[in-house]
Amino acid sequence: MNLCPVCAAPISITMEYPRFTVAVCPKCAVHVNFFSGTESFSHPQTQDLYNEAYFTDSYQAQYGRTYAQDQENIRRLSRIRLERLRHCMAGDWNGRGRLSIIDLGAALGFFLDEARQVGFGQWHGVEISDFACSYSRDQLSIPLQRESLLDWRPNQEYDIVTMFYVLEHFAEQASMLDKVRASVRRPGGWFVLSLPSIFGPHYRWRREEWATLHPVDHFVDYHPGSICAVLALYGLKCHKVFSSPLRKERLPVWVRGFPGLTKIAARFAFGDTMEIYARRI
Ligand SMILES: [Zn+2]
Repeated sequence: MNLCPVCAAPISITMEYPRFTVAVCPKCAVHVNFFSGTESFSHPQTQDLYNEAYFTDSYQAQYGRTYAQDQENIRRLSRIRLERLRHCMAGDWNGRGRLSIIDLGAALGFFLDEARQVGFGQWHGVEISDFACSYSRDQLSIPLQRESLLDWRPNQEYDIVTMFYVLEHFAEQASMLDKVRASVRRPGGWFVLSLPSIFGPHYRWRREEWATLHPVDHFVDYHPGSICAVLALYGLKCHKVFSSPLRKERLPVWVRGFPGLTKIAARFAFGDTMEIYARRI
C-alpha cells in the first residue's frame, strides 16, 4: 500500500494516464504521481541530474533559450514576486535592510540578486548544482551553499524563505515541509513558493495535453486549496495566493469572451501556476 507523502494517510490510484497514474490523498487532497518504474518513490536528486545541461540544453529544449539567456525574464518575475512581498509585508518592508532571505533551490541566483538590489540586508541560497553555484559566485558575487535540499539542515531561522518551482520535485514532501517550518522565523516570518497548479485551464480543459507534457520529476500536484491546507499542517497560514495569467489558447471558445473573466480567475486563483505567500504562526 502507498502512503501520502505529506500526511501518511493510505492512498490508492484514482486516475490513470498513458505515462503515469495518480493517487489523490483523501485527507489532504494532494495529488501523488507515479511514473512507471518510480513506485517506490525514490528519486535521485543528484549532481548528475542538475549538471550544466540541465540549465542549458534541457532548458533550451523546453523554453527555447538557456536559463542564463532567460535572465531578463526571470529577473522580471523576481521583481514581481518582491513587489507582491512588499504588499504582503506592508510596514515591515521598511525594515528589510535588517531582514534575512533564503532561496531554496536558488538556481543561478537571479532572484537573490534582485532581493539584494531592493535592499534586503542578508541573502542566502541553497543550490545542488555546481554549475549554478559557480555562475552565481562568479557572475553575481553571490555565494550559494552547494548542497541537495535533501541533505540540507536548517540551523537558523530566516525572515523570508522562498522556493520557486522546487517543492514539486521532491517525493519527500513531509521532510521538505518540516525543514521549511524549521527555517521560517516564528512568528511572522514569510514563506513564498511557486508551484504548478491543477486548478487551471490546462488541467481543467486540456487534460490530455497536460498529461502528455507533465514532467516526470514532478512527484506531486497541488491546487490552491490543498497547498494551503497542507501548509497549515506545518504552521504556515496562507495570506495570499496569486495565479498566473490565463493563456487564451487553453480556454474553450465559449469561455474566452466571458465578461470579467480575468478578474474572476484572479479572485479564485484559477491559473496553470500559482504563487503562495504564507506566514509562520
Ligand atoms: Zn495526505
